Amino acid sequence: MHVYCDFDGTISVEDATDLVLERLADPKWELLEEQWNRGEIGSGECMRRQIALIEATQQDLDTALRDVLIDPGFVSFAALCDIRNIPLTIVSDGVDYFIRSILSRHGLGHLPVIANRLTIKDEDGRQSYTLTSPYADQNCLAASGVCKCRSLMPDDLRVYIGDGRSDFCVSDKPELVFAKASLADHCADRNIPFIAYQTFSDLTESLVSVLPALRGKAFKTPRHVAA
Ligand SMILES: [Mg+2]
Ligand SMILES: [Zn+2]
Repeated sequence: MHVYCDFDGTISVEDATDLVLERLADPKWELLEEQWNRGEIGSGECMRRQIALIEATQQDLDTALRDVLIDPGFVSFAALCDIRNIPLTIVSDGVDYFIRSILSRHGLGHLPVIANRLTIKDEDGRQSYTLTSPYADQNCLAASGVCKCRSLMPDDLRVYIGDGRSDFCVSDKPELVFAKASLADHCADRNIPFIAYQTFSDLTESLVSVLPALRGKAFKTPRHVAA
């Protein structure tokens, strides 16, 4: 068994990239967002060009990221996976640096993250930001920076958790899908079986009822949870 989980809107309450762009990027980022919404550019190209518009010090970036909240049930869910030796991988079309920074604040910096890669360059005290997409796949119709349908490894039971457009291309591959928001609509429209959820605490309950073997010992208290 292997659990794969989207980040933005699934683990995080709001989209971390949107928050960073809203606060720290040249307003031209919104024009790119409109082009993406009209289907003129893929999400990969959109994000790479938007990230290049960030005008902030790394310190300001780190400060902004501290305001991204996560679903409070995710820490216990990650602890359940940990105690049962179930690999938990984050698969996101977002930004690796943002995700690692947010997860680290909750003692989860060790989780593997498949995402777009941020490079921060410092020239004379001025930072510039470049995004690359090592997990893109030209053949995937999603044209996203991270092709999630190519990210799943063979396993007897792959559980996928997501909420939105970046999860569409992978949604018919895993053995078990947990979906909310537009991913739930997508699955329903295409007759892809899924379990609806709203938060990680109800998701955890459903998962344990589907897989009673997960029941047992109480969840381990997370090692360090930031206030
Ligand atoms: Mg999402
Ligand atoms: Zn794909």
